[in-house]
Amino acid sequence: MNTKSRIFVFTVTILVGFSVAIMINTMFYFKNYSKNRIIEKTRLIAEIVRDGLTAHMVSGTMDKRIIFLHSISHTKGIKQLWVARSKYVAKQFGRGYDIEQPRDSIDKNVLATGKMATRIYEKKGKTFIRVTIPYIASAFGDPDCLKCHNVKQGAVLGAISVVYNISAVNKQDAKTLAKIAFITLLFILIALLFAKIFFNPYLTFFKNLERSLISARKGNFSLRIGTKIKTKDVNVIAKYYNLLLEKFSNTLGNIESKLAILLGGVGQSCVDPLEKAYYTIDMLSRVSQFKRAIELDATLEQIYKRIAEVTREIVSPDELVVCSVDHKQNCLSIGYASVNTQVCKDIAVENAQECRACRTHNYVLSEQFPEICPNYCGSFKYYCCLPYTITDRYEIVIILLNNDKEKLDNIEEKISTLKYYLENAKPIIGSKLLMRELKERSIRDNLSGLYNRNFLDEFVEKINTQSARHQNRYGVMMIDIDFFKKVNDTYGHEVGDKVIELIGKTIRNSIRESDIAARYGGEEFVVLMYESTPEYTMKIAENLRTIFSEQKIQVGRKQISGTISIGVSFFPDDADALAESIKCADAALYHAKNSGRNRVVRYKPEMLKKLQSNQHR
Ligand code: GH3
Ligand code: MG
Ligand code: MG
Repeated sequence: MNTKSRIFVFTVTILVGFSVAIMINTMFYFKNYSKNRIIEKTRLIAEIVRDGLTAHMVSGTMDKRIIFLHSISHTKGIKQLWVARSKYVAKQFGRGYDIEQPRDSIDKNVLATGKMATRIYEKKGKTFIRVTIPYIASAFGDPDCLKCHNVKQGAVLGAISVVYNISAVNKQDAKTLAKIAFITLLFILIALLFAKIFFNPYLTFFKNLERSLISARKGNFSLRIGTKIKTKDVNVIAKYYNLLLEKFSNTLGNIESKLAILLGGVGQSCVDPLEKAYYTIDMLSRVSQFKRAIELDATLEQIYKRIAEVTREIVSPDELVVCSVDHKQNCLSIGYASVNTQVCKDIAVENAQECRACRTHNYVLSEQFPEICPNYCGSFKYYCCLPYTITDRYEIVIILLNNDKEKLDNIEEKISTLKYYLENAKPIIGSKLLMRELKERSIRDNLSGLYNRNFLDEFVEKINTQSARHQNRYGVMMIDIDFFKKVNDTYGHEVGDKVIELIGKTIRNSIRESDIAARYGGEEFVVLMYESTPEYTMKIAENLRTIFSEQKIQVGRKQISGTISIGVSFFPDDADALAESIKCADAALYHAKNSGRNRVVRYKPEMLKKLQSNQHR
């Protein structure tokens, strides 16, 4: 119920309640008043009759009393009138007329007790009142009754009864009450009209205030409130409320335009400027926290994980993958994945140009065309690939995976929020990538893409310092390209370089993540196979040899191929130190070269002695 209805109900209840109370009270009072008035009137008539009879007695015209009684009984409203002689009068003056005999028990009672009696009764739908008064003998009045009557002082000489028809009076009373009711009703209506006139400006004021507050809640502070009410308090409320709106409107307008610059269009769907300000400040604080967190992250993997966390917070996908793209090497690698299953086909991983998002630098939304990317092989119904360029060389692709279409609602806005995070973090991610690149460069060999000699020496040194108990097993390969000098001499250095690139790629593809492959020098390479058995190492070495020999290098119109020789040893089986094991593998390689090349030779102790004796010669 609103205030208007409340005021109406309250006023009507008060007025009607008050009026009904007055009406009940009036009716009650009126009835009593009327009854008493009639009784009084009837008693007065009875007393007139009594005094009239006394007058007849004194004037000696008692024989004419009937005329008197008749004339009185014809008075308007009087239904009946009679007198009753007491036994004393009847004994002294005789029985009298018939109308002078006691008629009922009331007469007898009044004659016996000397007390007035009253009775109201109904007959044939009419209401009557009967009053019977005693005629008491007194020696102290004028005339002295005892002069003529042989009775004692206070004896009852007779009873005078008057019956009065009060129906007419009752009708009159009902009319009067109806008039009062009508006037009361009129008063209620007038009071309601006045209440309406009085309260209406207040209700309008509240209504305007309500409308303005609702509009302010939605961010529109332009609805000012006015009032025709002259009271000071209401005017003060209206004035300060309008001033407050003015202040909000001015300050928020400024804040809004400045915040819009800060966020560059992100979060523009908020209409309420206060909400928008809160959103912006919250966003800036989150982005600053995000930036600080990734600044302190030690590895790129941690950064990718953090990007995944922030993506999950903003977009809430079922699962997600963060890929890192190296455009120079044209490869795409998984930085973070919340699923174990493959999402992109190998072809896109090996050749980043196959990835639609990388190639187009545009969002790829499967919602538009289900098979928009031919290289998607995940099991999720919907995917969304978001590329973000970090530097000329590096790019990040976030793949959102969803089964629920509803999660794609408002995706554009969420993407722009995510983009804002990444845009702000871009310099930091870029510098981290550059640092990793520099670090990589210091430990990698450019041509083969394998670790360089420095890295290998440091690694071997580290393994050497490990206690015997913690030492791991390694299968060691020493690889050398056969007749490489001849390749250089015949086809030139550039072709020689291509051969080195090819052997690097072949080695990389043949070993596991945990293995270490390094360019030992010139066209020699070392592979350390972590926790590998002799059988497995020999198998990989043999594979390597075969695969390399089967590969072709285009030289003009010609295709050439080469072979490699591999010496294999085991640490700690063949030597106590890893560096010594490398020497053993070198001795086995020497043996491979001497026994015809293009082969894999397993180290034997005499091979080292033979190598040493040859070197001394
Ligand atoms: P073998 O079968 O006995 O190993 O004969 P080989 O010719 O391969 O061995 P040798 O040691 O005689 O020659 C190695 C050559 O490799 C000498 C050097 O010019 C060449 N070389 C070393 N590093 C590079 C390089 O980075 N690029 C090119 N193109 N050639 C290189
Ligand atoms: Mg060599
Ligand atoms: Mg060689």
